[in-house]
Amino acid sequence: DPQLNQNYTFDNFIEGECNRLARSAGFAVANKPGGTSFNPLMIYGAVGLGKTHLAQAIGNEIKRNLPDKLVIYVSCEKFCQQFVDSLKNNTINDFVNFYQAMDVIIMDDVHNFAGKEKTQDIFFHIFNHLHQSGKQVILTSDKAPKDLAGLEERLLSRFKWGLSADIQIPDLETRMAILKKKMYSDGIELPENVVEYVANQIDNSVRELEGAMVSLLAQSTLNKKEIDLNLAKSMLKNFVKNTHKEISMEFIQKLVCEYFEVPVEMVKSKVRKREIVQARQISMYLAKNHTKSSLKTIGSFFGGRDHSTVIYACQTVEDLIETDKKFKTYVNDIMKKLKA
Ligand code: ADP
Ligand code: MG
Repeated sequence: DPQLNQNYTFDNFIEGECNRLARSAGFAVANKPGGTSFNPLMIYGAVGLGKTHLAQAIGNEIKRNLPDKLVIYVSCEKFCQQFVDSLKNNTINDFVNFYQAMDVIIMDDVHNFAGKEKTQDIFFHIFNHLHQSGKQVILTSDKAPKDLAGLEERLLSRFKWGLSADIQIPDLETRMAILKKKMYSDGIELPENVVEYVANQIDNSVRELEGAMVSLLAQSTLNKKEIDLNLAKSMLKNFVKNTHKEISMEFIQKLVCEYFEVPVEMVKSKVRKREIVQARQISMYLAKNHTKSSLKTIGSFFGGRDHSTVIYACQTVEDLIETDKKFKTYVNDIMKKLKA
């Protein structure tokens, strides 16, 4: 299964208070896929806390125990893309049959279904088929099912059937254990006080925690110096996230169209279909707030419209953000991708 990443195992997943329930539910599922009440198993939590790692570990463990099981790992984003491609190529049946033949499906980041109604419909049918045949479904998400706006109610209700388990930010001790495990597997050693310092400084994401250590080690190799606490302190100052990248109108257009599954050209056209108008207005709103372009430039970029059309679009989007929870989620989701 090329989609499974062998590097993510239960062995190298450190257990802590923050992930105990999710981990043990995952382990139970891995030993009896489809045979527990944890179906679907939904693992949720903020970015960089180990959802993908744990979900992959479940898949790898199933393959280890039951090599004949068909296990597929797919990100929600890739699934959506495959669906769009299969529409284009007239291969919908192949697409559906492929997924319905699986014993275990692991779908990562299902919050990315927001706004994609057609893909949600297809997944709803695949889900039902698998679940009814006693196959295992494992999902990850950045929010609890009850907080997932922009997903169809019937799909959400399915997501709530099994067990939802969250992963939270690990405490200091767990963060240190994660760093040590990583050092050990990379065959390196850092003084205890440096490990503690790094774990203390970075308390929001395991991914950043690891990133900080990688950056420390890279700098020490380059400078051919042993890392002590003082050096670690001065080096970590440079560990800043790369912010402030330029955002273009093309990029906005591409993200919005991908999100709503509308063809890119449509936004610039005269078409007045509801979903196209919505994509166009959100694009204009984002262009006004996230680029330095003038109203005039924005109007002419999005299909030769004048500046009053842009003002009207921005006003409409602002009103909808105030009054429509689902709409607000759409805009926030796209904004997150814009800044990712
Ligand atoms: P998410 O999918 O929640 O954004 P990831 O699964 O990609 O997060 O985890 C980010 C990084 O942190 C990965 O390299 C992963 O191996 C590591 N990681 C997260 N949690 C743990 C843990 N409990 N033990 C060991 N490594 C972890
Ligand atoms: Mg992930």
